[in-house]
Amino acid sequence: MNDIHPVFEKMIGQHEKETFLNQKAKVIWFTGLSGSGKSTIALSLEKRLHEKDFFTQVLDGDNVRTGINNNLGFSEEDRTENIRRIAEISKLFVNCGIITLNSFVSPTNAIRKLAKEIIGKDNFIEIFVDTPIEICEQRDVKGLYKKAREGKIKDFTGITSPFEAPKNPDLTIKTENRTIENCVEEVFNFIVLKIKSKV
Ligand code: ADP
Repeated sequence: MNDIHPVFEKMIGQHEKETFLNQKAKVIWFTGLSGSGKSTIALSLEKRLHEKDFFTQVLDGDNVRTGINNNLGFSEEDRTENIRRIAEISKLFVNCGIITLNSFVSPTNAIRKLAKEIIGKDNFIEIFVDTPIEICEQRDVKGLYKKAREGKIKDFTGITSPFEAPKNPDLTIKTENRTIENCVEEVFNFIVLKIKSKV
């Protein structure tokens, strides 16, 4: 391959940075309906990882849609651009050796495929937070389902916009009738060997 920009050959690479941080960088990509538990699990997992001396970064709607992506809405075109930018940012974090926890609805197979292609399949772990829509709607953490039912939000995933369940996620987490701690434990156990540097 001779299409690598010369600047990348001069930079200190991912491997050296992983060695420096004593870990393996991955993007842990949480997908699922609004209210399914993505952010709750990602944030709690980050604490757990931090306690174990892993170096992490969480990306979610709060720090991305209000910042770098604040010019994007929820049309299909904007959702794709939203994910494209998030994936490019995640790739930079991974190149820096950082374990990146991404919490985004990312509702379609095409969108998740795009993210995986940008980040690279070896760096990408897809976790489907599989909570039935009825439960998400009961939780209605941000009052968005109510608004969507009232027709006040257009293109709301699960109501007026589709959610395609991933076909082959690396892990599926069910949250119904389970504690947050229990779900976090399951994700932690699943990823820990993948992010530990080899000794
Ligand atoms: P999302 O990021 O997917 O939109 P949130 O994490 O913001 O969802 O909201 C999930 C809600 O569900 C929170 O209020 C959380 O306390 C609740 N919840 C109940 N049980 C669980 C569980 N087992 N895992 C994650 N969240 C849970």
